[in-house]
Amino acid sequence: MNLESLYQEIILDHYKHPRGRELLAAPLGAAHHVNPTCGDELTVQVAVDSDGRLMIGYEGQGCSISQASASVMSELVTGLAPGQSEVIRQAFLDMMRAKGTGEPDEDVLGDAVAFAGVAKFPARVKCALLAWMALQDAEIQSGLLTQQSKDGDS
Ligand code: ZN
Repeated sequence: MNLESLYQEIILDHYKHPRGRELLAAPLGAAHHVNPTCGDELTVQVAVDSDGRLMIGYEGQGCSISQASASVMSELVTGLAPGQSEVIRQAFLDMMRAKGTGEPDEDVLGDAVAFAGVAKFPARVKCALLAWMALQDAEIQSGLLTQQSKDGDS
């Protein structure tokens, strides 16, 4: 199996078996993002558990890339300290902007490296980014992330 089809397998697996796909009982912040060009919709919620670790809730509908990306995002950032999610989010943004030319860091990105193949298709990049943009807005709304860090990537 080549890398391209391995990546497709990972995305399809997250699409068919989304990890942690449910809403939180008591979110600290939430954001609803839409990607009108594809018709994707996603609500992402954040909270922290009793140890101060991130909890993620989400639900949505749309293409396999947008929904698989939400599943991967939830799996990657759940249990992190607030703020650590930004490191992964930034690595993901860098990978998508490299249009498939860079070397994604699997230690940081885990299953999210599967979206490196998507980066070559500009029309699908927004699908892959939707979950991460919604996560950032939800974190800002919850007060877990300051607006200042948002200015850095626009
Ligand atoms: Zn889409």
